[in-house]
Amino acid sequence: MQVAGKELEVQQDAICGEVLKEALSKKQFKNVVVAKCGDTLLDLTATVPSDCTALEPVMASTDEGLEIIRHSTAHLMAEAVKKLYPTAKVTIGPSIANGFYYDFDYERPFTPEDLEAIEAEMLRRVGANEEFSREVLSSAEAIEKFEAMNESYKVELINDLGEETVSIYSNGDFADLCRGPHVARTGMIKAFKLLSVAGAYWRGDENREQLQRIYGTAFADPKALKKHLAQLEEAKKRDHRKLGTQLDLFSVNNEVGAGMTIWHPKGALVRAILEDFERKEHLKRGYQLVQGPLILKKELWERSGHYDNYRENMYFTEIDEQSYGIKPMNCLSHMLVFKSRLRSYRDLPQRYFELGVVHRHEKSGVLHGLLRVRSFTQDDAHLICRPDQLRDEIIGVAKFVGDLMDLFGFEYQAEISTKPEKAIGSDEDWEKATDALTGALNEMGMDYSINEGDGAFYGPKIDIIIKDALERRWQCATIQCDFTLPDRFDLSYVGEDGAKHRPVMLHRVILGSIERFIGVLIEHTGGALPAWLSPVQAKILTVTDAQNDFAQKVLQFLQEKGIRAEVDLRNEKLGYKVREAQLEKTPYMLIIGDKEVAAESVNVRARDGEDPGLKSLDEAAELISTAINEPFKRGGMSYSFS
Ligand SMILES: [Zn+2]
Ligand SMILES: [Zn+2]
Repeated sequence: MQVAGKELEVQQDAICGEVLKEALSKKQFKNVVVAKCGDTLLDLTATVPSDCTALEPVMASTDEGLEIIRHSTAHLMAEAVKKLYPTAKVTIGPSIANGFYYDFDYERPFTPEDLEAIEAEMLRRVGANEEFSREVLSSAEAIEKFEAMNESYKVELINDLGEETVSIYSNGDFADLCRGPHVARTGMIKAFKLLSVAGAYWRGDENREQLQRIYGTAFADPKALKKHLAQLEEAKKRDHRKLGTQLDLFSVNNEVGAGMTIWHPKGALVRAILEDFERKEHLKRGYQLVQGPLILKKELWERSGHYDNYRENMYFTEIDEQSYGIKPMNCLSHMLVFKSRLRSYRDLPQRYFELGVVHRHEKSGVLHGLLRVRSFTQDDAHLICRPDQLRDEIIGVAKFVGDLMDLFGFEYQAEISTKPEKAIGSDEDWEKATDALTGALNEMGMDYSINEGDGAFYGPKIDIIIKDALERRWQCATIQCDFTLPDRFDLSYVGEDGAKHRPVMLHRVILGSIERFIGVLIEHTGGALPAWLSPVQAKILTVTDAQNDFAQKVLQFLQEKGIRAEVDLRNEKLGYKVREAQLEKTPYMLIIGDKEVAAESVNVRARDGEDPGLKSLDEAAELISTAINEPFKRGGMSYSFS
């Protein structure tokens, strides 16, 4: 049989770890987390399945390996918590992006001192190099076991699973209901850190028990952990909620409601510029602007399927005994625009764009600044086209996405999600649409990965994942094929043959949620928004009152040149004014003292530390305008806000 690419003679009932050890060098084997046969992950202590033809190692540094290390670290943490706080009850502890958590039912919140103590205990358990052992019990035996340990949440989980048998993993005195696999011993966990505590509800249900969630992270080695912790530290400095206050852009006010954003003058201006840019860019690319109402009759949501499939995430209201749904998506009005008149094959594609405000009922626990909100604006479009136009339409959207991500300086990659098990539409339709998606990306030379079976039931899609300055990944753009809605709403066009045909519909967003995109952009740039988006592009600072008249003249000059400028005439020391302008991340400071007044000039300082120095007013305006336009020139675009 093939073991790590080598042909090896393997005995029946051989142990995975032993077999891999034989095929690998000592150094390589030290970094093996679990074994893999086909898609099945196996503990190193498991026997090689009799039907296995190729056994591969899963290394610690791979995504799969890291996930197992992190989940094993969650078990290790639970072991330590139970040791230090025996009355704490355990619930679940999954690995998540960049780490893991475990939820405990405990009489009080854990403190930072508790976390230190837990970490120290975890290190002792790592030192003891305890084994992770697996046993399979009947559900009845497992329930008895967990009842004896007073672990009522585990009992509930087993009852809900309704399986005949369950597997249990033990490390030290701690036993957990778990599918596995796990690292072989606690000594394999080489680099971890507990990060924070937060409240959580059992099963995310606010009517159930309040739990204490401890977040942590783990890596294959201390160096990778150190790098990640440094990034977290930097992310804290760049937290968009903190910067949003510092830059006076927005606030989230509980008097209004959780997950709802109030935009202050500067933030509303940033939005207005972004939205104005998007509208113009869409018009240039052959889209038409449309706009629908915020609330639509319940019957329409029944017809679209949202009422059956998405109702829990929607808000409803009643007027004159008629129930209305507040829109969570913008599709319906757009389809009604299409249906408003007879369409010929020559009229297609129709591309409808709307900066559509949507409301979605996200659970309160997941709300986070601008990144997860309940009310947001999507840069949403629906492209309704003939099947033979699908590929070109997708190319157009993908190119649009690429242009905007380049403009903002985000690296990006694409993921294609294909037909899931439960799906509507014929195999032929799915194949055509999936081919159109992959074909379009191939033609553009865009890299992509495929998530087999991960598409929505109504069609395949492309997700664009962007990478920010801290190497965090965010999903913004999506391009989604849809076979259901054109059917449910009986969309049609008259073909060349004079007969009625069903068009294809693409839903697509580019920035996604404007709120979320601004949040990501703030963290990506550390608040130093590109000059074209900065609410104030130049700040004029005077040394004393003697320069006030000239400062006003400079202000007027810049404004006439289309530069957003402000003047700080306060009777404060220059150093203080400079520091404040720096905190506001203003791209340019124009300093005026007696010397500058005499020379009818300004002393220019840039936010990035560059010091262009003494410039005439024309030169200063030219310098700032160049910085504003630079990102567009780079991409062969042009834009001005007005
Ligand atoms: Zn587990
Ligand atoms: Zn849609």
